[in-house]
Amino acid sequence: MPSDPWEEDGFQVRRVQPFEAVKTYQCPGCSQEITAGIGHLVVVPPEAPDLRRHWHKPCWEHRNRRRPGRA
Ligand SMILES: [Zn+2]
Repeated sequence: MPSDPWEEDGFQVRRVQPFEAVKTYQCPGCSQEITAGIGHLVVVPPEAPDLRRHWHKPCWEHRNRRRPGRA
């Protein structure tokens, strides 16, 4: 059963179940691939649905601890 999206930090977040994950995505949190068959999250800015991003669940949860662009 697909889960309903929820809102977090102004983004719409939805869980992608392993059986729904049929493509490979790049996680913006760790820059690693999310391979097909891996459950993860899809994060959608409500004002720009085309800019949705696929995140590993732990990377999304820890996103505020990361400083993008920091060596
Ligand atoms: Zn990640």
